[in-house]
Amino acid sequence: MMDYDYMKPASMKEVFTLLKEYGPKATLIAGGTDVMVNIRNRELSPEVLISLRGLHELRYIRKNDGYHIGALTTHRMLEQSDMVKGELSALHDAASQLGSVQVRNVATVGGNICNAAPSADTAGPLLALDATVVLEGPDGRRSVPIADFFTGPSKTVRKGDEVLVEFHIPEAPGRFGSAYWKHARRRAMDLPLLGLAVGLALSESREIFDARIGLTVAAPVPMRAHKAEEFLKGKPLEAEVLEEAGEIASSEASPRDSLRSKAWYRREMIAVFVPRMVRLAAERIRDK
Ligand SMILES: Cc1cc2nc3c(=O)[nH]c(=O)nc-3n(C[C@H](O)[C@H](O)[C@H](O)COP(=O)(O)OP(=O)(O)OC[C@H]3O[C@@H](n4cnc5c(N)ncnc54)[C@H](O)[C@@H]3O)c2cc1C
Repeated sequence: MMDYDYMKPASMKEVFTLLKEYGPKATLIAGGTDVMVNIRNRELSPEVLISLRGLHELRYIRKNDGYHIGALTTHRMLEQSDMVKGELSALHDAASQLGSVQVRNVATVGGNICNAAPSADTAGPLLALDATVVLEGPDGRRSVPIADFFTGPSKTVRKGDEVLVEFHIPEAPGRFGSAYWKHARRRAMDLPLLGLAVGLALSESREIFDARIGLTVAAPVPMRAHKAEEFLKGKPLEAEVLEEAGEIASSEASPRDSLRSKAWYRREMIAVFVPRMVRLAAERIRDK
């Protein structure tokens, strides 16, 4: 039986005081759906758990100069938000398929990103939505583009004395839609063997004005397929164009063989699902 203290500060100031006092002996905990599993598997043995659950002010979804999502927002809140469904559809797709309802009721988007699993479901959509991660430390706040946040499996640029407080998503130019495909082995609670998100902006003439492709489980860290994005810009939404973009994205990825899938299969599926997700994002623009 693992023995640890549990502390539930009521303010950010108290969190920083505790982080300073306990340093690496402490682990932050939000929903606990990764932390408690890691403790039980003996991959994590903190002396102190510092719970963020008393920081109710970090639970929100707001639109004001872009979108602001508090780090403690649960996946269920994202799933149930009409604004997220209509305007940040890729994030809605991901949040509503993560774990079970019970998991989504407690698990947070901040926890999903700080845990930094290569398979994190919200990472692809946040990449395709061009999100910025806002970190707060004892000396103030700093913003990091989500594309620069992950440095390796379970590793991020977050310093030990910082808390992820918010995601900021800029309002996209023009007519914008997005979509996320979670490719899993079964249609039940499962981690993706590939995650693929697309953010798409179309001009009035339905040419591709902007395209962003976020891939997960396609490399050691969640990644943008920049070459495929550049290729798509200014092109019409035609089958050959989308298929070529899929091939380019596939060649940019560096997936590995794992229990869930072989690398070659992941590559093939990137080529298959880039066109499908671009089309779905475009359909969502048309339906607006
Ligand atoms: C049954 C089950 C099914 C699951 N299915 C999925 C799935 O389908 N897809 C998927 O992506 N994940 C899945 N997960 C993993 C997990 O639920 C998610 O990663 C979840 O979003 C983690 O959020 P949390 O609030 O529970 O994080 P926690 O477990 O509380 O924390 C996770 C990590 O983030 C750190 N942390 C948390 N919040 C902050 C913050 N604000 N600032 C700094 N550090 C912070 C913690 O210190 C810890 O290192 C599943 C887990 C379980 C148990």
